Amino acid sequence: MTTVNGKHNILSLNIDMLKQVMLEYGEAAFRAKQIFGWLAKGTESFEAMGNIPSKLRSRLNEDYYIGLPELVRMQESKTDGTIKVLYEFEDGRRVESVFMKYSYGNSICISSQVGCRMGCTFCASTINGLERGLSRGEMLGEVLKMRNITGENINHIVIMGMGEPFDNYEEVSGFLRLINDKDGYNLSMRNITVSTCGLVPVIEQFGEDFPQVNLAVSLHAPNDDIRCETMPVARKYSHAELLKACRDYTEKTGRRISFEYSMINGVNDSDECAKELAAKLKGWLTHVNLIPLNEVKGKDYNASDKRRIANFKSILEASNIAVTVRRTLGSDIDAACGQLRNNS
Ligand code: SF4
Repeated sequence: MTTVNGKHNILSLNIDMLKQVMLEYGEAAFRAKQIFGWLAKGTESFEAMGNIPSKLRSRLNEDYYIGLPELVRMQESKTDGTIKVLYEFEDGRRVESVFMKYSYGNSICISSQVGCRMGCTFCASTINGLERGLSRGEMLGEVLKMRNITGENINHIVIMGMGEPFDNYEEVSGFLRLINDKDGYNLSMRNITVSTCGLVPVIEQFGEDFPQVNLAVSLHAPNDDIRCETMPVARKYSHAELLKACRDYTEKTGRRISFEYSMINGVNDSDECAKELAAKLKGWLTHVNLIPLNEVKGKDYNASDKRRIANFKSILEASNIAVTVRRTLGSDIDAACGQLRNNS
């Protein structure tokens, strides 16, 4: 648990842990529910918890802090209302979160680690490696702070920002349970998507632990040769092993799996690539999300053009595979994950 000056981040505590704290303080158990409710509203100080006796507020203040991150920078898209923020935690580490508006509601993309050690060659988040994983309370803090900043409800969460969620699985699991708690933020598991670059053993575990949470797998290639070029994780888990784990996941959970596919000019966007991918995914409970690459300064990759993406899409569709091209949100700001942090 993150500790600052001997204090713990209270946002990492679930309701049972808060009840235990109340017991140790000699307070009634119902206070735990009240405090948990205040925290889920994004309350920034114990002082603001109006129905909590002042003696208890002072006691909490001695032992805990409310770990909402500081807002360091904010960029707002003039075209679609996307808001990208750079947060700083108590130890000075920085991560990014993005708020997006969709027809089905407001969504936030949060980070799960400071930096990333997965080394995908097209990604800005991994440039300085992994600094540390975020705690469950820090991830919750990203959501609550964004609601405070925007004044808007957030009803969808994707864990697709900086970091590999399955490389920080215990804390990500704790966060999912916290945000889902009916006495807290009460967000349905079905409104959450977790993305992985393909840590095969954790995919299986995730299917057992969270069968209602959506899973997105960053595939980005139709075969090992191309995947190994851009994603070092592919040297550990082959394309075939990854697809098998995904297939097992869909069979076990009955849930559709999403494959994320960044379209990189001249790397993975040919008709041959599309045909090879179509042959491998045909007949699956799946959905492919084609993403025009968010170009990163200092990296030698360009996004595929619209015509290439359209061709790729129609080849997959000819095999009855559900495909969408992701709307490029916030293209007038540093939208690619890791860019705002690197440029600050
Ligand atoms: S794409 Fe995801 S897994 Fe790969 S380096 Fe970037 S943050 Fe890490």
